[in-house]
Amino acid sequence: MIERVRNKMILLWGTPRRLFWNVCRPGYVRASLAMRSGECRRCGACCRLFVRCIHFFEDNGLPACRLYKHRPPNCSNFPIDPRDIADRDLIAPDSPCGYSWPQTGPGANK
Ligand code: SF4
Ligand code: SF4
Repeated sequence: MIERVRNKMILLWGTPRRLFWNVCRPGYVRASLAMRSGECRRCGACCRLFVRCIHFFEDNGLPACRLYKHRPPNCSNFPIDPRDIADRDLIAPDSPCGYSWPQTGPGANK
């Protein structure tokens, strides 16, 4: 129970954290994304971090977004750094995100 509440608090905090990076530290975001490798596997985990997003739907069994072309930076830049990977792993530990960073990349120690 305590673990569940703790994870919910971590996921709740993730939204303003990403907003801060995107709005106030775009240089950090650019540098971190430049170090990121891989591609989105369309697992949909980042669309249901704290709650399931109202714009989320399933298209022939695949996660999809009603706002895809106009989705906000918190979505289009996800994951910004390894901390975001850790967040999404809280809800989908068995289906890893398609993105990753080298151990020493930006944000690795955040
Ligand atoms: S968690 Fe990663 S792989 Fe899954 S939908 Fe989000 S960006 Fe794509
Ligand atoms: S706006 Fe789209 S990409 Fe962003 S969380 Fe919602 S469904 Fe996912």
